[in-house]
Amino acid sequence: MLFQIPAFLYLTDRELRFIATAGSEWAGLELELEGKLLHEVLGADAEPSRALAAHQRALGGEPASYETEWSHRLISVRVEPAFDEEGRCVGTIGIAAEVSARQREIEELRTNAERLRTLLETTPDAIYMKDGEGRWLEANEAGLQLFHFSRSEYQGLTDLELARRHAFFRDALLACYQSDQQAWAAGGPTRREEIIPQPDGDSRIVAVTKVPLLHPNGQRKGLVILGRDITRRRLAEQERARLLHQEKVARAAAEEARRRSEFLSSASRVLADSLDYDATLTAVARLGLPFLGEWCAVDLAGEDLRTSRVATAHAEPSKAGSARRLEECVPDLEVAGGIAEVIRTRRPLVLTPPPGGEGVPALCCHEGAHLDTVRELGLRSGLSVPLVARGRTMGTLTYASVRPDRYRDEDVRLAEDLAWRAALALDNARLYRESQEAIQARDEFLSIASHELRTPITALRLGIQRLLRLARGGAEPAWKTVAPSLEGIERQGKRLALLIDSLLDVSRLQSHRIQLDLEEVELSAVVRDVVEQFGGALARTHTPLSLRTEASVVGRWDRLRLEQVVTNLLDNAIKYGASAPIEVSVARENGGAVLTLKDGGIGISSERLPFIFGRFERAVSSRHYGGLGLGLYIVRQLVELHGGSIQVESSPGQGSTFTIRLPPHP
Ligand code: ADP
Repeated sequence: MLFQIPAFLYLTDRELRFIATAGSEWAGLELELEGKLLHEVLGADAEPSRALAAHQRALGGEPASYETEWSHRLISVRVEPAFDEEGRCVGTIGIAAEVSARQREIEELRTNAERLRTLLETTPDAIYMKDGEGRWLEANEAGLQLFHFSRSEYQGLTDLELARRHAFFRDALLACYQSDQQAWAAGGPTRREEIIPQPDGDSRIVAVTKVPLLHPNGQRKGLVILGRDITRRRLAEQERARLLHQEKVARAAAEEARRRSEFLSSASRVLADSLDYDATLTAVARLGLPFLGEWCAVDLAGEDLRTSRVATAHAEPSKAGSARRLEECVPDLEVAGGIAEVIRTRRPLVLTPPPGGEGVPALCCHEGAHLDTVRELGLRSGLSVPLVARGRTMGTLTYASVRPDRYRDEDVRLAEDLAWRAALALDNARLYRESQEAIQARDEFLSIASHELRTPITALRLGIQRLLRLARGGAEPAWKTVAPSLEGIERQGKRLALLIDSLLDVSRLQSHRIQLDLEEVELSAVVRDVVEQFGGALARTHTPLSLRTEASVVGRWDRLRLEQVVTNLLDNAIKYGASAPIEVSVARENGGAVLTLKDGGIGISSERLPFIFGRFERAVSSRHYGGLGLGLYIVRQLVELHGGSIQVESSPGQGSTFTIRLPPHP
C-alpha cells in the first residue's frame, strides 16, 4: 500500500540514521538506505541545513516541514517526532512527497489572495463590496474608517440597516443607498462626489466610483465601490480658487480705481478750461455722463432753500429734447428723501422709485408731465450729491440711470469727489463773475460819481465867476444882485457836502462803523424841520406838499440820522415827483411811529422795485435824473439800525409811497 503512494517514507533514530524506508525508488534514491545517516544521503545537491534543522526540531518533539528541490522536482517534506511507549522521542518519521501542480496553483492563489488583501488593506482608498441585495460583504480599513465602523459590525447588513444603527451617519448612508440605486440603474460604472460628515465636525469629500457586477442573465451579482478621499485636493482647489478670485477682485478694483482717477483728472481738466459761469454750468452737467448715468441735472439753492434747475444733460443726443423738459421743472422740495434733504444735510442720497412704482419722483416736480418724462426716459435710479464749496452749499448735482439699483458706494464716493471739484469750479466762476461785475459797477459808479460831483462844482464855479466879474467891475454891487449867486453857491456847496457824506456813510455802514446817538426825539418836529428846509426846492419845482403830523410821536432815536432819512426820501419825492403833490404824515403806532411819504411822480417798475434799496441801484437813467443810487440804501440801513422797517408801494406813472415804521427804541 505504502509503495503505491507517490511518496518516500522513512524512519530514523536519534542520530538521524535511516532505520526503515519506503518508496525510495520513487524518490530516485539508492535501494539500500537503512543504516545510512541522513546527511550522507542528502549529499551536496540538497539543502542539508534546512533538512537537518527540520529533523532537529522533530527530535525536539515538534513537527516540522520544509520544501526542497530534488532532481528538478519540488518536494515537500514533513518530519514528525517518533516516540516510544514511554513517550520518549527516539527518532523521526519523515514523509517526502512531490508538490503537485494543483497544489502549486492553490499555493499561488493563496499567495495572490494574500497579496491582494494586503494591497486592499494598505491602500488609502476606501473599498467596499456589496452583494446583489446591497448587503455589505467586505470593506477595507480605509472604507471602515470613513464610517467609523468596526470590522465585525457591518458584514451582511444593508445601507438602510446600518443607517438605523448609526444615527450620526444616517444621512450619509441613505445617500449611499440612493447612489447605489443610481449605479444599478446606470448598469455601468458611475462616478460622483459624496460628502461624509465626520464626528469631529469636519467633512470628508469622497470621489466615489461604483461598478455594478451582473450575472450573464442580467441579475445583480454585486457592487464594487471605490472611494478616494479628495478632501485635501478639494480644499486646495477651493483655496486656489479663492486666491484666484481675490486676485481677480483686486485687479478689477485696481483697474476701476485707475479708470476713476483718469475720469476725475479729465473732469478736472474740463472744469479748469473756462472761468465763464454759464460755460462751467454746462460743463458740470455733462461731466459725469455716461460714466455716472444717462442724465444729469444741476440744481442751485437760493437763500430760502428754494432751488432752481440751471442745467441738465443727457448722454444720448436723441434724448436731449425730452431731457430738456426736465430742465423747466423745479424739484419738489416736499418729497421726502429728495434733493432738499441733500441740500439740508449736505449728504449724498441714492434715489429710488417708490415701492411698486416706476420713475424716480425725487428727480422732478410733480406739476405738468415731468414724472411722465422721467418714465419716458426710463430713469429708474438716481444719485444726488451736494455741491459744497468753501463751506457753502450751493445746490446739488443729480445723476439718474436707466438701470435700477445702479448706484453703489463707490459711485457715491466718485460723484462726491466730482461734485467737490464741480462746486469749486462753479464757485470760482461765480467769484470771477462777481468780481467782473464789481469792476464794472465800480467803473460805472466812478463815471456817475464824477458826473454827480461835476454838476454842483460847475454851478458853484459859475456863481463864483459871476461874483468875480462883479468884483472886478469896480462898482459897488447892490447886495440884492449878489444874493442869488451866493444862495446858489450855498446850495451847490450843500449838495456837494451831501454827496460826499453819502459816500462816507456807505463806507461806514458797510464796515458797521455807524453808531446811533440815541436821545428822546419827537419825530413830527424832525419831519417839520426837514420839510421847512426843502421850502426852496419845493418852490423851485412848483411841488405842493401837505404835512400831517400827530403830536408827541416820541421815541429814543438818533435825531440827525432820522433827519437824514427824511431828507433822502423827500429829496427823491421832489426829484422823481414830477411836481405832483406830496403827502407827508407822521403818526403813532404801537408805541412807536409810522412815517409815510407819498408822491404822485414817475413811480417804479415792478422789476426794479426789489432792487432800489441796494447799493448803487437805480431804476432810472443817469442821463435824466442825477443821483448816486445810495439814498435809499442809506435810508434802509439807518431805519433797520433803529430796529424799524421800510416798505414801498409803487407802479410806473402812479407815484410811490414809502412807509417807515419805527419801534419806540431800537
Ligand atoms: P438816487 O436817487 O440817487 O438814484 P436812491 O437810492 O435814492 O438813489 O434811489 C434809488 C432809485 O430808486 C432811484 O434811482 C429811482 O430810480 C428810484 N426811486 C427812489 N425814490 C423814488 C420815487 N419817490 N419815485 C420814483 N422812483 C424813485
